[in-house]
Amino acid sequence: MKEKTEFLEREYKNMLERGETWTIRDLNGPSQPHVVVEGKKCIMLASNNYLNLANDPRLREAAKKAIDKYGAGAGSDWSIAGNMDIHRELNEKIAEFKRTEAGVTYQTGYAVNSGLIPQLAGRGDILISDELNHGSIIDGVRLTKADRAIYAHSDMGELETVLKDAEKKNYRRTIILTDGVFSMDGDIAKMDEIQKLADEYGAMTYVDDAHGEGVLGEGHGIATEFNLEKKIDFQVGTFSKAFGSFGGMLAGSEMLIKYAYNTSRTWLLSAAFPPHVAAASIAALDIVEKEPERVKKLWDNTKYFKKEIESLGFDTGNSQTPIIPSMVGDSKKAQELAKRLYDEGIFCLAIVYPMVGRGKARIRNQMNAGMSREDLDVILRAYEKCGKELDII
Ligand SMILES: *Cc1c(COP(=O)(O)O)cnc(C)c1O
Repeated sequence: MKEKTEFLEREYKNMLERGETWTIRDLNGPSQPHVVVEGKKCIMLASNNYLNLANDPRLREAAKKAIDKYGAGAGSDWSIAGNMDIHRELNEKIAEFKRTEAGVTYQTGYAVNSGLIPQLAGRGDILISDELNHGSIIDGVRLTKADRAIYAHSDMGELETVLKDAEKKNYRRTIILTDGVFSMDGDIAKMDEIQKLADEYGAMTYVDDAHGEGVLGEGHGIATEFNLEKKIDFQVGTFSKAFGSFGGMLAGSEMLIKYAYNTSRTWLLSAAFPPHVAAASIAALDIVEKEPERVKKLWDNTKYFKKEIESLGFDTGNSQTPIIPSMVGDSKKAQELAKRLYDEGIFCLAIVYPMVGRGKARIRNQMNAGMSREDLDVILRAYEKCGKELDII
């Protein structure tokens, strides 16, 4: 008999044995520093809600008002009949916030990368990617017929070698693609050096700043951090992380934006996100502009937590941002640590293969501007206890 769906169970069991499956836990209320997870009170250590905006009353209010004015859904794709004035307002806000000529939202950050990259390069071009880039960039690259090169993580010597090689082959277009902040390690792309190399070799730069927005450059992101707002060719981001809302964004030249939405299949073939999502995102950008103390608090928490968890004996890898991993190595051990921390009232997540390489499992701790010093101390005490029990420290 020819096999049909039996592979599903077989493969799933294999994943289970390797400790590589996700346990999905339900939050019983909003995402914020103090959460209830399946009835249990926890401190949230695993969300991307860096600036604590996801449950901000002003975002909630903006969303409610927009529902009353515009309804629950957009009714169509942006390209056909789903573009409401509030979507346009958000697009203009993106440009203002990113200090670029123009901006546009996509359904998600994933939709920007998987939809736009295939429109930027094809046969006769080369895409050059950091080995630790986000999966959505990898998928975007896979959808093109362009040549690909991958350089070792943040290795500028290797990037230059690749660029030199590419120069000899006379490619039509060369694009360097990188995350702004690397999502599993929390280190920052060497954007100044990447841009310098790009200029030297006639390459374009494409930066996905999903974890850098709200965090770097007083909240404006990596381009502001490195003073490259006018230099980076393609700036990608998301409202789903520090901004506490939802939706992808693209910022750059007027021509880029027009080209992007006229060609990206994700943008064209998928519905506009609901108008209240745009309203919440607009409110978030306003707050980030007006309350620089939020970003400052996020960094205060980051510095304190990193110093203290390192002094307990945990390895935080290359962390330079509010993403502060505690390295474990073995997948099952990382999952056991996450489970024990959960028992202590800390909601954190083991990051295992394929999110990171095999043998590089870790807990990804993510800071939040809304956490108090006391919250952080509770987390650290739990880490000390569980880390000792499991012989990690
Ligand atoms: C989270 C993330 C995305 C996905 O963004 P969504 O808006 O949630 O789809 C894309 N790229 C990077 C680098 C990310 O970290």
